[in-house]
Amino acid sequence: MQKNIIKIEHPRQYHMVWDWFRVANYIPGYGREMTSDTSPFLMLDYNARWEILPQWAHRPGVGFHPHRGFETVTIVYSGEIEHQDTAGHGGVIWADEVQWMTAGSGLLHNEFMTADFSRVGGVQHAIQLWVNLRSSDKMTSPRYQALTRSSIPEVLFGGWRVRVIAGRFWDIQWVANTFSPVELYDVRFDYAWQLDIEIPENYTTMLLVTEWEIIVNGKKLENGDMANFARSGSSISISSNAIAKVLIMAWEPIDEPISHYWPFVMNTEVEIRQAFADLNAGKMWTIV
Ligand code: MN
Repeated sequence: MQKNIIKIEHPRQYHMVWDWFRVANYIPGYGREMTSDTSPFLMLDYNARWEILPQWAHRPGVGFHPHRGFETVTIVYSGEIEHQDTAGHGGVIWADEVQWMTAGSGLLHNEFMTADFSRVGGVQHAIQLWVNLRSSDKMTSPRYQALTRSSIPEVLFGGWRVRVIAGRFWDIQWVANTFSPVELYDVRFDYAWQLDIEIPENYTTMLLVTEWEIIVNGKKLENGDMANFARSGSSISISSNAIAKVLIMAWEPIDEPISHYWPFVMNTEVEIRQAFADLNAGKMWTIV
């Protein structure tokens, strides 16, 4: 049985995250509070293709800021993002790569365009997802997984390629360590073709069109549309008439209360206050 589309989101507005990310917020959406309705997805910011002009004396980015209680998954389609965190990790996320950061008990990190990209300019195109952790995992040690271009397995058949960022597709399983079951696929059509994707029942399932347009369960979706699917049903049928890209996100929900204040997502307000106390006491960094 197919998973029906229950809603299509496409915010027609943008905001800037510092001077770097020109994003549209899809989850929770403008004017909405973070809720468990989309669990375990807490936030989705989409930086649609945007031309960055050469920056002569300035390197756009987001300076050091803290997180606790969840994971950030940054998917870069175009651009170069350099990052550093107080748990001792750092590096560059190149085009077609993914940064999977487990904030866990807490860290501070920054994200900047590389010096080269800032100087030359180019197209910036990326997604950042915030994914919740179960209460039992919220205070896990911070962790960083660099999913490089060559390490992301790809299943190719006819006109499509499925890049398995997390989970299992056909018999290909990506080995990313995740705290709860997830299927995360970067699907690319190189020419007209059709593809059926199996998704477990009861997963929170979404599909974002990141290039061109696509037909999902018989309905045409345009670039920037995000479809939300019903929990019931176990397959999605997608097809394209040309080159297209979509991100498929399917995750087992976490049925727990959410207490959220900007950089921290916990279960109770007391834990949020504790997070600020720990931040101020310097417990979220070991190296600065
Ligand atoms: Mn951050």
